[in-house]
Amino acid sequence: MNADLSDHVGPTLRCACGKAARYAGRHDKTTRSALGSLRLSRAYYHCDACEAGFCPRDRMLGIEDTSLSPAVTRMVGLAAAMVSFAESSELLAELAGVSVDPKQVERTAEALGRDIDDDERRVVEPEPPTATTMYLGMDGTGIPMRAEELVGRDGKQPDGSSKTREVKLVTLWSAEGKDDEGIPVRDAGSVSYSAAIESAARRDTDETPSEFAQRVVREATRRGFDEATRKVVLGDGAPWIWNLADEHFPDAIQIVDLYHAKGHLFTVAKSIYGATSDLARQWGKQRRDELDSGDLDGVLAALRVHATVDEEARKCLDYVTKNLHRMRYPEFRAKGLCVSSGVVEAGCKGAIGTRCKRPGMHWTVAGADAIIALRCCKLSGRFEDFWERRSAGRR
Ligand SMILES: [Zn+2]
Repeated sequence: MNADLSDHVGPTLRCACGKAARYAGRHDKTTRSALGSLRLSRAYYHCDACEAGFCPRDRMLGIEDTSLSPAVTRMVGLAAAMVSFAESSELLAELAGVSVDPKQVERTAEALGRDIDDDERRVVEPEPPTATTMYLGMDGTGIPMRAEELVGRDGKQPDGSSKTREVKLVTLWSAEGKDDEGIPVRDAGSVSYSAAIESAARRDTDETPSEFAQRVVREATRRGFDEATRKVVLGDGAPWIWNLADEHFPDAIQIVDLYHAKGHLFTVAKSIYGATSDLARQWGKQRRDELDSGDLDGVLAALRVHATVDEEARKCLDYVTKNLHRMRYPEFRAKGLCVSSGVVEAGCKGAIGTRCKRPGMHWTVAGADAIIALRCCKLSGRFEDFWERRSAGRR
């Protein structure tokens, strides 16, 4: 490659500023490639007008502004999508013999994540739905942030401050298969994710949907959610989920995750009778059976008995009352629908928690969003497509 001098295209070359940059000899640069260090000699052009310098070959090879080759950049991105920056650095050294220190892994992966985030907003190619019934789940999970990212934000700490920001996640999947008991199971390879630290709140005066609502709509469009014969939105009781579903998917069936609802009832049981008491277990089990059999009046009646004296019971009464139509479990089951958002919770844990909520991790919003974009892209099986677009954009 160094014997090939064709990147010297003449005495001048047009600079990005519009003026002519002049040829200023060949400059060397050492690039870390998957096969070891490469010392590359390239034609260098300098622009006197804006004092910028550039090498046409760097652009062609995809090594502008980086000392890593595209293949190493790709390895760094894939490793950092899965494990911490320090672990990525170790794995790259161990598996590929490439030395990239954790700080450079972080910079490289975040830059790639920002590109993916851009690409995700720009490229929305609608696909037909992969099944008759498509599920869309939403959830939120807090991740630990650096102190300076939390200034002025209210939170749940005793002094009213916050240690986390909420990542909101949308996931789509299908569940055409059934297990031995006839319960729908998620179809392997059908899950896709998109997530970011974004608001789902929309004031009446806003002309555009919230940032997160736009993300949900993009992902739903990609997956052909609107084209599916049956559409189901699953979530816990959080009002933003249902506001968003009402507005953007008005004809979807809404279901409150069964396990979440049961969890609520057991919290009430413990609050009334004490965490370890037999009475709590018994009360909780009765409510759970009522929920399973569709006896919502029974659940409401039992909650009303305690609602005046127990705060948890009062909150739960409110929750069940507001979500009655989303808790008709026997009816949903009879239609062969999945009533648990295990996929969504697993998504929150797998896509976000596993990578972002580890001891000692403290994120910036920009850093977290970049790594989350990278990880969602990888876990949704879209990294290859993104990489092709990225490479094509350079050609
Ligand atoms: Zn210039």
